[in-house]
Amino acid sequence: MSNTEVYNWSDKVILVVEDEEVNTYFFQAALRKTEAKLLFASSGREAIDLATSDTHIDLILMDIRLPELDGYEATRQIKEKRPEIPIVAQTAYAMANERENILKAGCNDYISKPIRFKVLMDTIAKYLD
Ligand SMILES: [Mg+2]
Repeated sequence: MSNTEVYNWSDKVILVVEDEEVNTYFFQAALRKTEAKLLFASSGREAIDLATSDTHIDLILMDIRLPELDGYEATRQIKEKRPEIPIVAQTAYAMANERENILKAGCNDYISKPIRFKVLMDTIAKYLD
């Protein structure tokens, strides 16, 4: 993707799991031009409820550090019921063992915070396009 090109995901639904409001603004702004429909969950529990009841979700952006039920556990439970939904973890810790745990939990991919726009777009595109 060049700098002037924009992905079109107007027929796609992305579930953003993120407990920090300021980060949800980032995703809204970053994804606006793609016209993807965004759903938001602010806890692992809410993410599981949405992902297992809404049959139209095409991809999940999963925060790892969440209150109560973390992103690892939420991913495990979602993948049990909806293994076909790609889950991209987004995490502030880029430690080697964390990457391993993310993939072990069932995430398809991961991106590190602070999230770079192009990395976000190209990672999502791998699973949507
Ligand atoms: Mg968080």
